[in-house]
Amino acid sequence: MKTPYGKECKFYYGDYARGHATQECRLLANNSESEKWFPALCQTCPVPDILRVNQCPQLHLYARVDKTLFGLSKKVVVEGFCERYFLETHDLRAGCGHCHELDLEEFEIADS
Ligand code: SF4
Repeated sequence: MKTPYGKECKFYYGDYARGHATQECRLLANNSESEKWFPALCQTCPVPDILRVNQCPQLHLYARVDKTLFGLSKKVVVEGFCERYFLETHDLRAGCGHCHELDLEEFEIADS
């Protein structure tokens, strides 16, 4: 679903049908320790761009709302890890890098 700022995000949910005005971020809703989500956070959130370039199903994302550098506004901070190799993923756009090795191994096994 597209966020109010026009980017596709699988965690965004909006329901405007039949008088509803429901909006939520299902990624931040999973983190009970985070401050509450509000729609303007989608404007600078890095998640849509991460998901656009890294569609690995093993990538598990955690997000929280944090203050910006001078504390004047808020932003979404994202961390992630690979569910297959249990590795923290420092570059979320690139992933942990192991699946490419695995895909190659599976290809070689299937090929022989
Ligand atoms: S805050 Fe980020 S993860 Fe949450 S719905 Fe908006 S763009 Fe998606």
